[in-house]
Amino acid sequence: MIPFIDLAAQFAARETAIRSRMDAVLAHGKYIMGPEVRELEQRLAAYIGSAHCVTCASGTDALMLPLMAEGVGPGDAVITTSFTFIATAEVISLLGARPVFVDIEADTWNISPRAVQECLANWNPGWGRPRAIIAVDIFGLPAAAVELRRIADEHGLLLIEDAAQSFGASLDGKRAASFGHYAATSFFPAKPLGCYGDGGAVFCAHAEQAARLDSLRVHGKGTDKYDNVRIGVNSRLDTLQAAIVLAKLDYFDEELAARQQVAQTYAAALAELGDRAILQNISVGAVSAWAQYSLLASDGSVRAAAQEILKSAGIPTAVYYPKPLHLQTAFAHLGYRAGDLPVCENVCSRIFSLPMHPYMPQGQAKAIAAKAAAALA
Ligand SMILES: *Cc1c(COP(=O)(O)O)cnc(C)c1O
Repeated sequence: MIPFIDLAAQFAARETAIRSRMDAVLAHGKYIMGPEVRELEQRLAAYIGSAHCVTCASGTDALMLPLMAEGVGPGDAVITTSFTFIATAEVISLLGARPVFVDIEADTWNISPRAVQECLANWNPGWGRPRAIIAVDIFGLPAAAVELRRIADEHGLLLIEDAAQSFGASLDGKRAASFGHYAATSFFPAKPLGCYGDGGAVFCAHAEQAARLDSLRVHGKGTDKYDNVRIGVNSRLDTLQAAIVLAKLDYFDEELAARQQVAQTYAAALAELGDRAILQNISVGAVSAWAQYSLLASDGSVRAAAQEILKSAGIPTAVYYPKPLHLQTAFAHLGYRAGDLPVCENVCSRIFSLPMHPYMPQGQAKAIAAKAAAALA
């Protein structure tokens, strides 16, 4: 089997830089909130074009901390997409608020601004008070940020951008993770910018927001960690993980370009298949970070057959996501039924992803593209 994501190839290519950054941490020994954490926050904020970056222990925490900072809790509701990883909606429930799922766009697979508007127009007061919209940049493609921000502002809601998959992506020349009142990203190893464990970061525009996040991630600290002014959590990014991200950041733009190259190779071979291989529509003005390269087969059985053919050729595939969140057992108490979000359910039944990483040799990308095209033809 060829690797689905080849982190070993990345390490082999960048070993000296990564090891020397890690060695520096081992030498100074400041494992918690060491100088690399602040250095990384400054580098990331500059990269995104956001005023503030506050790192934390995971992408999930990076979604939870802004909700905590804004006091979202019992009696509140948060509108989000059902086509995402569980973390996006889990944090809403964890804080005692209610996730309200809306459908996605048929071509980008991102949350539909029209569906958000309809949801607000037909709001059920039993859901609670609407407080926020969490938009996900699915597979690395920025959501319709401008429209979503307009809707959020019109209704006095927060827009939180789940940029866990889209670090490095852009829309009309602005980076993903710069669009929401807050944005969250993840350094989980398989994400476009990964560390060697768990890690995450929140981006925001205002110093007061950043100060609250900084307090929340260290047990609600005030002037110091033994002065506690609010209920917080332990969610710091390890200094070692910050050092690893700093080392990788120097090569990140090259990696984005390499991902783009793989995506172009796939698209060239698959575009000819018409309805037998529906590709993610990259909106005008958008550049994806290509966390995943995904496509729709004609139906579930064609998908299963294609995955089997590719597997026997040594090519791994994956399904992100086989089950939409509104139909997950964990959310059964919300009362959603099959058929409630038809676009999302249809996409889940047909979608699968091909290997995608920046260290894939061009020949291998071409071979995978040809095999995938043959398997779907
Ligand atoms: C990975 C991911 C998260 C969670 O990130 P972790 O670092 O694994 O906690 C949240 N949302 C989306 C869309 C993700 O892909």
